[in-house]
Amino acid sequence: MKSFNPPIRTLMGPGPSDVHPRILSAMARPTIGHLDPAFVGMMDEIKTTLKYAFKTENELTMPVSAPGSAGMETCFANLVDPGDKVVVCINGVFGMRMKENIMRFGGEAIVVEDDWGNAVSTDKVEQVLKNNKDAKILAFVHAETSTGARSDAKTLCKLAHQYNCISIVDAVTSLGGIELRVDDWEIDAVYSGTQKCLSAMPGISPISISERALAKIKNRKTPVTSWFLDLNLVMGYWGGSTQRTYHHTAPVNTLYGLHESLLMLAEEGIENAWVRHQKNHQILSDGLEAMRIKFLVKKAHRLPQLNTVFIPKGVDDGLVRNTLLNDYNLEIGAGLGAYAGKVWRIGLMGHACRLENISLCLSALSAVLDKG
Ligand SMILES: *Cc1c(COP(=O)(O)O)cnc(C)c1O
Repeated sequence: MKSFNPPIRTLMGPGPSDVHPRILSAMARPTIGHLDPAFVGMMDEIKTTLKYAFKTENELTMPVSAPGSAGMETCFANLVDPGDKVVVCINGVFGMRMKENIMRFGGEAIVVEDDWGNAVSTDKVEQVLKNNKDAKILAFVHAETSTGARSDAKTLCKLAHQYNCISIVDAVTSLGGIELRVDDWEIDAVYSGTQKCLSAMPGISPISISERALAKIKNRKTPVTSWFLDLNLVMGYWGGSTQRTYHHTAPVNTLYGLHESLLMLAEEGIENAWVRHQKNHQILSDGLEAMRIKFLVKKAHRLPQLNTVFIPKGVDDGLVRNTLLNDYNLEIGAGLGAYAGKVWRIGLMGHACRLENISLCLSALSAVLDKG
């Protein structure tokens, strides 16, 4: 065995996305203790810039020491009381995972289903909320990475409050890539991930919890069934200005990476990052459409950071993706579920969302398709 030296790839799949060299070098800095005052100062800066990224003043805004899936689980573990009715919107893989979480934490899932590739129907959600006045939570995915569809988070969260529900929003793929306003849209609980549009390494899940959601957690009749994800305990380490107590050993170097990625987002300006994703998406989609490649999602609901396109007829999915990887060091994503073998998912996330990547993707894809 010898040291592992990964090949240098261009990552244009559904995540992880290209990690900026500044972030990689930040992670290589010396490890210090996770209760070291210098580290605690950095933690405070992470919390401040996360509030900036989420556009929130929520005090409980912090990174969970595990990937996006753990952010999802944190929200459901803390907010679902056994027996709670939870309206959950399913229009792709991640909505299905939300439902799975609700059931595992003892909730009753009321499903609002939409076809894969469509946005969540706000009309259907309103009807279901009307018919289930005792529902406690509305849960949905803002940016469904399995299909590339964007749902109207603002309207859905408004509906949630209108019907006395708190909202749980999956923003794993949205944060840093498209408009997301936690306070203005009155989102109650939101989780994201570092490896999508923040372009940091995989493994951390930023979350933000509103006062209203926090009140629900504090009023729980039963303890949170997960010890690791119980926010009452986690906050002893990440919380306020009081003395920090040991809960778990924070992933010190990974958090250096998150700190650098948030600094870069603030330097660019988050609104500028949204615009960059939209502009580059336009260039990529013009190029793909010129190759007569068609999108799964209607224009109005397309995510700029995740482009799902139909594989042209007669083209071998695996062969094309392998050739892109082996000959061009370019990774694009495969389809999931019913769309496996039928679509590709081309990511334009964070640092991967730049002209040279688009140019590589279009020319490589065109060359490979011509040859096949
Ligand atoms: C990637 C993703 C997740 C899961 O994040 P992991 O870091 O892979 O655990 C959850 N929801 C959505 C919408 C995602 O795109």
